[in-house]
Amino acid sequence: MIRRFLYNFFQGRNGMDAIAKFTWILTFAFILLSFIPGVVGYVFYVLTTVSMVYTLFRVLSRNVYKRREEERRFLDKTQRVRRYFADSRVRFSQRKEYKFFRCPTCHSYLRVPRGKGKLQITCRKCGNRFSGKT
Ligand SMILES: [Zn+2]
Repeated sequence: MIRRFLYNFFQGRNGMDAIAKFTWILTFAFILLSFIPGVVGYVFYVLTTVSMVYTLFRVLSRNVYKRREEERRFLDKTQRVRRYFADSRVRFSQRKEYKFFRCPTCHSYLRVPRGKGKLQITCRKCGNRFSGKT
């Protein structure tokens, strides 16, 4: 009964998309920051409300087409940051088997097995050669 109601209620609505997830996390950050005494805390209190209302607006919006467009732009703009965090996670999980170097010329990451001593490393992207200790 309740499930049916919820199903019908969310039918044709935007739901929790990438932006809504982001603003939802922001809402919680703002809640914590609103405990700062004085004007700063008050500003974050206001931001909490704004962010919460905006999240609800996105989730319940029936203009799914427009929300999808906004989400696509949001994902485009945040691609580099999201890529950075995804790559950091990979590097962290492989840190015991591999050492990661950054090419001094093109700044791309290079993965080298650990424990091979001093190595001459050739960048796969730009061909630059440099040495590093594994
Ligand atoms: Zn390079």
